[in-house]
Parts: sequence; structure tokens; C-alpha cells
Amino acid sequence: MGICGECEVSKMSEAKKCAKALLQFIEDCPSVYHVINRIRGELLDAGAVELQETEKWTLLAGQTYFVVRNDASVIAFSCPAKAPKGFHMVAAHSDSPTFKLKANPEMNVEAHYGKLNVEKYGGMIMNTWMDRPLSVAGRVAVTDSQTGKIITRLVNMDKDLLVIPNLAIHMNRDINKGVELNPQVDMLPLFGEKAEKGVFNKRIAKQLGIKPEEILDWDLFLYAREKGRFIGDKEEFILSPKLDDLQCVFCAKEAFLHQSPAEYINVFAVFDHEEIGSTSRQAADSDFLKSVLERIVQGLEGQEKSYEMLLADSYLLSADNAHAVHPNHPEKADPTNRPYLNQGVVLKYHGGQKYTSDGVSGAYFKLLCKEAKVPYQTFANRADMTGGSTLGNISTAHVSVMSADIGMPQLAMHSCVETGGVKDTLYGILLMKKLYEK
Ligand SMILES: [Zn+2]
Repeated sequence: MGICGECEVSKMSEAKKCAKALLQFIEDCPSVYHVINRIRGELLDAGAVELQETEKWTLLAGQTYFVVRNDASVIAFSCPAKAPKGFHMVAAHSDSPTFKLKANPEMNVEAHYGKLNVEKYGGMIMNTWMDRPLSVAGRVAVTDSQTGKIITRLVNMDKDLLVIPNLAIHMNRDINKGVELNPQVDMLPLFGEKAEKGVFNKRIAKQLGIKPEEILDWDLFLYAREKGRFIGDKEEFILSPKLDDLQCVFCAKEAFLHQSPAEYINVFAVFDHEEIGSTSRQAADSDFLKSVLERIVQGLEGQEKSYEMLLADSYLLSADNAHAVHPNHPEKADPTNRPYLNQGVVLKYHGGQKYTSDGVSGAYFKLLCKEAKVPYQTFANRADMTGGSTLGNISTAHVSVMSADIGMPQLAMHSCVETGGVKDTLYGILLMKKLYEK
């Protein structure tokens, strides 16, 4: 790709190219570890240098760097040619709601069914995971034969492996009145006619070409096999798993990779574990961002401004998808803030500051949109409804900078497959690119 940024927003074909590239990116990234590994590859291809948290950093002006934490979060940054004024940052999250495989996952039912024991990861719409082909991807920890150290390897079973069957309507006559699903009872995927102890480990080992006993541990998750696609009379929409939040990750990645030289240190951050509260060591509510920004200031030669001085002239776009007005439930949206698909990037407000946008940071966002020729819309929850939260206010609790919460409009957030607009990915890229150009 790489051409999205240079084209006119009005050209549907260009927007479609961006949307298509987004769908491919999502398909190529069946787990958070695949997301981060993919970003690592693209950054290296673009000439960025990978840093290790265990080593001292000496940073050169004009160079781009990145650091990965625990295979699941990444922070990339570009040092300007001249003394930087501050940080211009975009943050999004790598994870989406799914089911996580438990240890010893094999279970058997009456000697005719083998199934896998899983638990919920995040707040998904559970019934959307039923009756569709699923597979398993994630990472496996093994011992490196040369160094004896623990290393991780990506794994993707990459076949139609599992299904979570619904109960027939004849056995559950009230199903269309709404059914309470118990994740330990209703959501265990069917694996085969039997699942003898250790068989899943064997399958994973075979996929990796190693012996089962070499596997020390794993982090494995279910994913939907559905490929993303265009949908609608004029193919105006996209239907894909994990638009929340890989659409924002994709936009920020494209903007960062195609940035122009700037006076600010451009930062592109992708955090894990947003869907479960952001409290792990690689999540937004950790020291990861703060630590990286502090180390940039320490590592840049001839840096005159202090960390605090740079932060005081910095800006963060916290990018996480937003709810569009629902075609069957328009009454669920706020009366006067009504985002629609294909109508531009959404600026989110919340009186209780769950979204960080305020009058000044919102004004700056609007100026960026104007300069980028990108339409924007505003979102607020109905006053009688509690919305979700995101990573902006969590990040700014650690790194206190001016920040706005934004996202691309979508329907069916946290469904197994979600609906978005074809044009909004391009809008997102153009907006973020404008911040990185400043
Ligand atoms: Zn999200």
C-alpha cells in the first residue's frame, strides 16, 4: 500500500484500496502476537531500528526506532532532525474480545464428543461466536536449543477447527426472547469426536514442527475464520472481525510509516489488554509509555529540553473505534451527536472524562481535520446510558499530555464480526498523518 495518504478523500477507489488493505491486515493477524509481529516486520522493512528494554539506548536524530514489550505491545517513535518540541502520539489497542484456551483444555462428552475448555477474554457479544468456523492462534513458549533460554513462537492452526453449536430452537423455545449464556456451559467449542488428554498440545507441536514435550507453555486464543469483505448495495461497508481496534491500529501504522519529517517526536503506540482493563505490564495502565518517553529524552544526544518540558508541548490521539447510529435502534444514540458510517473520524466526549477530549484538545483535533480535509463527527453517550471506556484517560494518568479520544464509526462493537464504512479508514490515515506532519 502506501499511497493512501497522497490521494483525494473523495475518490472512492482510493478509499476502497485502504479498506481492502485493512481487511487483509486483519486476516493476516489472528492474534495480538501476530499483530505486533506484523508491525515489527513493517517497521524493520521501513528502516526502523528495534531497541531492547534491557539495553542502553543511544538515539540518533532523524532515525526511527521501536520497542516491543512481551510480544503484545509496541511503541515506535521517530526522532526529528532538529531538537524536538514535544511528542505527537497516536495510541490504539492490539486486542479484541475472544475466548482464551485454558491449560489442560481437553474435555469429553459421553465418549462421542471432544471439546476444549475456554474462558472469556473481554466483553464479547457471546452468541455471535456460535455456529461459525473458528480456529486457534497465539504464541507458544519453548526452550531455545542453542541458548537454553525461553523463547516464544507464533502459532496459527490455520484451519476450520472448531465450532460452538447453538442449542436447537426445539430444545429452547424462548431463544428469540433472549437467552442467558453461561460461558462455562454454553461456549465450549467442539473439537472432534474425542479429545484425549494432551492431544491439543500434540496438534500445536505438529503445526510448529516440534516435539510436544518441547512446549513449555502457551497463550492461545480462538479467532473467527471469516474473511473480511465488502457489503452493501454499492459495497459501501466492510464486514470483518476485530474492526475494534485493528482499524485504528492500521490507520496509525499507515500514518506513521508514511510520515513526513517533523519538529516533534512522532510516537505510534499499540497496547495489549485494553479489553480486560489495561492493567497488565504491557497495557496502557503500565509504565510502558512513560518509560519509553523518558528513555527517548535520556537517549537523544544534545537534548536540551527536559522530559517535563517536552510533555508540556505534546498531543495524544487515543484511537479506539466509536459507535455509529444503529439502523434498527437509532434511539440508542445521543439526540444531537450522531455518527454514521462513512461520514468521517469520530471525536468522543464524556463529561466524566472517560474520554479525554476537552474544548482545547477537541479544537486542535478539528483543526487537524480541516487541514487534512477529513470530515469529522462527534460522539457522546446518551445521558441515561453508561458507555465503554478506552485507553486515553488511562495513558494520560501516567503521561499527562493534551489528548483527544477519537475512533472510526462502526456497528455491532464486540460482535464476532463488526460493520464499518469503506471511507473511514482513509479518513483516519489522513488525519493521523496530519498530526505526524506538524
Ligand atoms: Zn476498542
